Amino acid sequence: MREKLDKVEDTIRSFLDKKPAGEKLWMRELCLAAVEAGREGNYPVASAIISLKGPRFIGTNKSFFPKFKSSGHSEMVALDAYEDSSENLPDLTLMSTLEPCLMCTARIAMSKVTRVIYLAKDASGGAIADLSLLPPDFSKSLSKIRFDEFRASKDLSEIGKCLHEIGEEIWQSTYSKTREEVSRT
Ligand SMILES: [Zn+2]
Repeated sequence: MREKLDKVEDTIRSFLDKKPAGEKLWMRELCLAAVEAGREGNYPVASAIISLKGPRFIGTNKSFFPKFKSSGHSEMVALDAYEDSSENLPDLTLMSTLEPCLMCTARIAMSKVTRVIYLAKDASGGAIADLSLLPPDFSKSLSKIRFDEFRASKDLSEIGKCLHEIGEEIWQSTYSKTREEVSRT
């Protein structure tokens, strides 16, 4: 796993040579943060709450380490960081290296986020593809939020797919171990 993460990091760092700016630069930073989450043994995902008028709040996945936390998804961590701060920023964008899951999408519906940009689709766990599955109040809130798949860079899109594939491997091995521990107690 470490070799795969090293390889992805090399690819991300080589992307720096192409002088990314704006959202591309931010997505690149999140990809690097996602690699670090993977090195900790967590799912390699990172998210940020971004506003043009203020600081950024970054969250990386904390689902498995230092201890199991069911709400440790990077979107939740970033939203907690923002909402626990004293900031009240306009036009909040949530940027993530992976399509938000059902839990995070429900949280986004209840948040002040107005736009979501995600790098990789998550066919097995993403909730954005079919928002009609959610209860009406959630669907109504989400209809006011713009969801965009990040398409500004083919290189970054490939990196996002690699991070997702590595994440699925970590998820399959680590989450099943966690469930085994639960069933033993
Ligand atoms: Zn999630």
